[in-house]
Amino acid sequence: MHYMKRKDMNESYEKGWGDLRQRTRQFWFSFIGCILVPFIIGLPLERLFESSTPILVVSVLSLVFFFKYGMNLLMFKCPRCQSNFFSKKLDAYSGYNIFSRKCLNCGLQKWH
Ligand SMILES: [Zn+2]
Repeated sequence: MHYMKRKDMNESYEKGWGDLRQRTRQFWFSFIGCILVPFIIGLPLERLFESSTPILVVSVLSLVFFFKYGMNLLMFKCPRCQSNFFSKKLDAYSGYNIFSRKCLNCGLQKWH
């Protein structure tokens, strides 16, 4: 019975880490995207329309995605304590650390 309970808990952590893995991937893709996309899509459009408006629009759009996925990663909830993994509960504005290797609230190690 105890074994079953522990197994269930690990499975729910696993779900959380899968979620974190996906958010991290989206974050890096959007980060690389916001550097590359203006060149890959924006530059040809600039030549096509002979205007710098498309590159501006594409840059702003990719920045929006970058912030969206950045926030998405920052808002990741710890699978154990359900608080924000990368920020301290009582210190929401100064306590962000997106590269933290453990939960800033309960200390749960990443990927464990
Ligand atoms: Zn936690």
